[in-house]
Amino acid sequence: MKLPVIRPQTGHGLSAKLIALAAIVAGAVTLFAGFGAGAEQTLRGARDMMRAHAPSGEIVIVEIDAKSLHQLDHWPWPRRYHAALVDKLHAAGARSIAFDTDFSGRSTVADDATFAKALENAGGDVILPSFRQATSLQSQSFSENLPIPELRAHAFLASVNIHPDSEGLVRDYVSGVSTAGTIRPSLAGMVAEVSGRGSTNFTVDQSIDQTALPRVSFVDVINGKVPDALLRGKRMIVGATAIELGDRYAVPRHGVVPGVVIQAMAAETLLQGATNPTLGGAPLFLAALLILCAVMGGKSRGKQIAFVLLGLTAVLAAPLALEALGWATLETVPAIVVLLIAAEGIVAREIWRAFQSKTFVDQETQLGNGRALSRLPLSENSIIISTRIARFDETQSVVGAAGANDLIRRTAERIAFTAAKGDVFRTGEDTLAWVCDSEDADDVDDRIAALRALFRSPIQIGNRSVELSLTYGAARSNADDGRACASRALVAADHAGENGLRWAWHSQSLSAEIDWKLALLGELDNALADGQIWVAYQPKADVKTGEITSSEALVRWSHPERGLVPPDHFIPVIEQSGRIHNLTLFVLERALTDLSQWQALRPEMSVAVNISAPLLDDPAFAEEVSAVLNKTKVDPARVTLEITESAALANPERAVAAMERLCALGVKLSIDDYGTGQSTLSYLKRLPASEIKIDKSFITDLVDTRNDQILVRSTIELAHELGFKVVAEGIEDAACLALLASMGCDTAQGWHIGKPMPAAAFAEMLEPRIKLAA
Ligand code: C2E
Ligand code: CA
Ligand code: CA
Repeated sequence: MKLPVIRPQTGHGLSAKLIALAAIVAGAVTLFAGFGAGAEQTLRGARDMMRAHAPSGEIVIVEIDAKSLHQLDHWPWPRRYHAALVDKLHAAGARSIAFDTDFSGRSTVADDATFAKALENAGGDVILPSFRQATSLQSQSFSENLPIPELRAHAFLASVNIHPDSEGLVRDYVSGVSTAGTIRPSLAGMVAEVSGRGSTNFTVDQSIDQTALPRVSFVDVINGKVPDALLRGKRMIVGATAIELGDRYAVPRHGVVPGVVIQAMAAETLLQGATNPTLGGAPLFLAALLILCAVMGGKSRGKQIAFVLLGLTAVLAAPLALEALGWATLETVPAIVVLLIAAEGIVAREIWRAFQSKTFVDQETQLGNGRALSRLPLSENSIIISTRIARFDETQSVVGAAGANDLIRRTAERIAFTAAKGDVFRTGEDTLAWVCDSEDADDVDDRIAALRALFRSPIQIGNRSVELSLTYGAARSNADDGRACASRALVAADHAGENGLRWAWHSQSLSAEIDWKLALLGELDNALADGQIWVAYQPKADVKTGEITSSEALVRWSHPERGLVPPDHFIPVIEQSGRIHNLTLFVLERALTDLSQWQALRPEMSVAVNISAPLLDDPAFAEEVSAVLNKTKVDPARVTLEITESAALANPERAVAAMERLCALGVKLSIDDYGTGQSTLSYLKRLPASEIKIDKSFITDLVDTRNDQILVRSTIELAHELGFKVVAEGIEDAACLALLASMGCDTAQGWHIGKPMPAAAFAEMLEPRIKLAA
């Protein structure tokens, strides 16, 4: 079964709306402010390169080149040369002859007449240039610079002005010029024989390979060196290409080229129908907005990125296709800006999310973690409740790691019903915390009661149903951060757990107690070293004979400031901190050393030592016990290890294995505090123990409590049937001892027999019998 993810509160990432807004604004600014012209041109240049193709071959440049200048002397040329050129071209069947050279001045009367005659003979096939000029440097008015009237009479006139853009590059071609009311079509328009099309400005198509424009040398033509076949039907444009004549312009892609080449390229552009009027950036910008909608609607990050890439490809390809078809060109940069900003936003958001998730989400359960909790906005009166799942380790060993994660999630889901905002945070391996949905302290009890009711039904993990036992604690935020508050609540929860309470508030005295415990822990090593920690012995007597046969070693801490600290106060702290190991070995070694002394007096004497639950999980422990036995040379059969019922049951498989390892050393095992757990005697029979110790809670008031009597009597009987020896602890008076004797109890321990006492006192207690015996 798939569980819904409980989303932690992890602050605000980049929302889809924000990303879209940023993309639209950036795109719109680019569009309207005309930013990105350079990028636009670069892209166009790239497209031109991709579409690179040969010219039509219809347009032929007649070059006034270095060779012509060299072979035909004195520049400016006498007009008879031009006449000769027109004659030759006309005779060869050229379709039209356009001049991009200045005829506004006069040469000799005879030459001008010769040229005029040639033009007349050509029958209107010749186009002569008109320049538009400013009348003076400062002036805003213009005048037309025309060929002399005799020449004008027999030719068409066309404008040859070229307009570099702000970068000094010639990109666009002006198709017609109007000066003082006279409209002149452009030279390229006339050569290409377009009128309507030529009436708007257009961009010279740089994808046409200008180096492949057919060229012939002026001098070769008039000397008849150019075959007529190269000229027939062609549109000739005559102009200067020799470097010494100037007339050069910078163009994109090709560097600096002569004006005549620009005229030829412009005419080619018109001829190929490649004028591609620009539709500007708006169409693709609008398309990008549509793509953006698709991107932001994309469910997964993968889909969103895919939409962006598709969109970019479409935006780049659209003008390429339109230009190739000769329909139009489009500006792409605003659209690209929209899509790139969106892509960046998405990537940034993903990085942010990954960071958030690593930092604020528990990777095993997808719940918010402690760091997420500390960022939660809390009011001063907010109440945080923490809970610990009791014996989580044990549960984990049964349901496995994945099952345990599932369990935490399911637990969080149940809790979410009573949590403000429904958010439950995992603050530790087996702990959860949440903000209570009420700030009224009186409500906390209700909320926890409701939770306890909810957790009465077990949680199904796989095919197991797991019963959970949770302990709760609550703390007020008091303007503290959520995590700190949750850990105070957890202290209270642990306190509740230790004291069998349903739940507990965190209080000042509780934290003082914790401080105290921590301080104690810090002093432990010193205390062991300088003898503050010592071992008391409480005698155990044989019920039938009344003789002292054994004793229980009980640790004591005589603290220089705090006085005698009871073991119940420091043993649990030491167990939790994982340092019970050293303390136990210390007590064991002390007890066995003392026992070997007493055995000199009474060889049958034995001693019992308490073993904490965590030690059963430690495979090395049995070896350490064995080492102490060897060192003290005590007969293992005279040593009893007391293990509490709950320790033996916590993890039965592991406990049995550990107990068997200890048993193999020859020591005896006793089940301590019997009756406080849930186990039955027949179940305990599976353990390699030889003795049970009935807990003092059943014994102390035995004489006055009928129920306890029934219970203890039947326990003793059954224990004997199962082969256990029975010890009763907590015997405070003779009546109690007598009653137990009547019930057949084997061994007695309690204040009535003797209180726990220092080793020397215990040895003294053994003396009288020796004296008596003597
Ligand atoms: P326990 O093993 O059940 O020890 C018996 C406790 O009952 C001792 O308390 C003892 O002083 C007390 N007691 C004995 N006779 C009577 C009686 O007639 N009436 C009453 N009311 N109490 C009696 P103590 O010494 O305070 O020890 C408390 C617990 O501390 C022990 O319970 C044991 O669980 C733990 N403990 C003591 N020494 C050690 C140790 O060396 N290692 C470990 N792991 N735990 C220890
Ligand atoms: Ca004990
Ligand atoms: Ca006990």
